[in-house]
Amino acid sequence: MAVVFRSAPLRAVPQRPPAMVRAGAALGQVLLDRNLITGEQLDFAVAHQRTTNRRLGQVLLDLGFTTPDAVLGALAIQLGVPATRLNGFTVSPAAVQSLPEKVARTHLAVPLKKIGQMLQVAIACPNDLLALDDLRFASGCQIQTFVALEDEIVEALERFYAPDTLEAAPEESTEAVLFEPIEFDRRDPDRPDRRQSARGRRKTDQSQAEEEFDEATELTAVRTVDRILSRAAGAGASDIHLERTPENLRVRFRVDGTFQDIGYISTAVAPAICARLKVLAGMDIAERRLPQDGRLTVSIGDRRLDFRASTYPTIHGEKLVMRVLDQGALKLELGALGMRGPLIDDFREVIRRPEGLVLITGPTGSGKTSTLYAALSELVETGKNITTIENPVEYELPGTNQGQINEKAGFTFAKGLRAVLRQDPDVIMVGEIRDSETLTTSIEASLTGHLVFSTLHTNGAIATITRLLDMGIEPYFLASGVQAIVAQRLVRRICTHCQTELPVPAGVRHLFGDDVPAALRRGAGCTECRGTGFSGRVGIYEMVRMTADLRELILARASETRLLAAARQDRMSPLRDQCLDRVREGLTTLEEVVRVTQ
Ligand SMILES: [Zn+2]
Repeated sequence: MAVVFRSAPLRAVPQRPPAMVRAGAALGQVLLDRNLITGEQLDFAVAHQRTTNRRLGQVLLDLGFTTPDAVLGALAIQLGVPATRLNGFTVSPAAVQSLPEKVARTHLAVPLKKIGQMLQVAIACPNDLLALDDLRFASGCQIQTFVALEDEIVEALERFYAPDTLEAAPEESTEAVLFEPIEFDRRDPDRPDRRQSARGRRKTDQSQAEEEFDEATELTAVRTVDRILSRAAGAGASDIHLERTPENLRVRFRVDGTFQDIGYISTAVAPAICARLKVLAGMDIAERRLPQDGRLTVSIGDRRLDFRASTYPTIHGEKLVMRVLDQGALKLELGALGMRGPLIDDFREVIRRPEGLVLITGPTGSGKTSTLYAALSELVETGKNITTIENPVEYELPGTNQGQINEKAGFTFAKGLRAVLRQDPDVIMVGEIRDSETLTTSIEASLTGHLVFSTLHTNGAIATITRLLDMGIEPYFLASGVQAIVAQRLVRRICTHCQTELPVPAGVRHLFGDDVPAALRRGAGCTECRGTGFSGRVGIYEMVRMTADLRELILARASETRLLAAARQDRMSPLRDQCLDRVREGLTTLEEVVRVTQ
């Protein structure tokens, strides 16, 4: 459940007796009391509501006066029932099956979860007793209600009661998607063609390999796969997940770092869909018990999309994940990624030095790889010899020599780095530093006339220094090799189509210090952002340069506090301050900043 408001934490809000407030304005009063709308906005919305037959909360949202979460929070107080958002909510098939579609649509009720003989239902009007009677009768269950937004209910009903929409009928014309399966040999020369190796398998496997789908199933699978891929491209998904459950095949996209439910595919077609994708990705379709990986390329209109596909055998069948490696969508410009101000100039100065180690740090999914590629692509024009060791190569960067490690064959980052050093490099990119051997070799390389880039899984720039020392590196070695450490995060950007302004809640004003903004911004949710209120992401960075002061402190093994003070002297602005700046500017929300900086 995305967001659940319970009345308990909100009890401080003064409740007025219903008789004192205008009819239909109880919700408006709650929002007014909480400073979530203004009196003028409420009057305007009430007047506007008379011309529509929509509920007041929905009208306030339509007008962009407030946010879905604010309306739901107020509804929870007004009605005394918990509230829930429905976008991104995953419903259990058992719940959907226990409530007939017609009843659900008549009462705008979405079954959420069935627990024994109790059915949890999200409904726009939880105080409609006749509706609750109908739901009880139709499901044969006790009903526990949650209040939800009308539009989200309508949208959820579409999703949950039309599970087959992803499956294309065989006679339907296919969308303009052309496939061009990539030959294995181009990417991975030492891997034998897996389809050939399937011939030598045991009998049982062979019969599975020859499992045939009837023509209609196969055609449905081909078109469903086309549809999933083109929808993923349209939604700007970074990953496609196909997950087997006992009942069906669940399709989810990861968009801007969070999951969106796309639909369910019946078990009748699921094996054919997995087989189709495995063939396209050059995998062995007979092998279902071992994880596999492969690649495929798709052209959609004038876009070319590369996918890295992998399978994982789960207890209910194979799970397939496809990571979208959209060459066209990759922003290879430091400014476009979100770097700015004095930091971008300092960073550009550092990466143009002839030698030194430059570290990009942050948790998984913080955009470190994009920053590395952007830095390298700025150096391509210098004509330097740029060589990479990656795990694996995610984007092809023209003008560089990209290689990837192969742990199974013993080709590790440390080994790769030593091999690259024999290749007369100027600039080296080592995908990740995970062990002290790679770290030592990287620093040695940086001290012998090479510019070395790498990433580390640490939380902050100063914390990285401590971490490197913990890895057993001598302070003088670190202080002379490392030139700069960048720490970064990715935050979701507020959708510009539905952004609204809110007063700054009293409880968070202190976070902004002396510079409290007049208002905060957030996305109300619209079709452009698929109801999430966010569209795209932006990088936020802090950078520590190795100054003479910092070097001395490292040699003296000074505390993090003293290191931080020295970095601040050198105009280092901590991530947290940078994040708050983006909130002040209305680029992202406070919640989003808290999510990535915790
Ligand atoms: Zn929007």
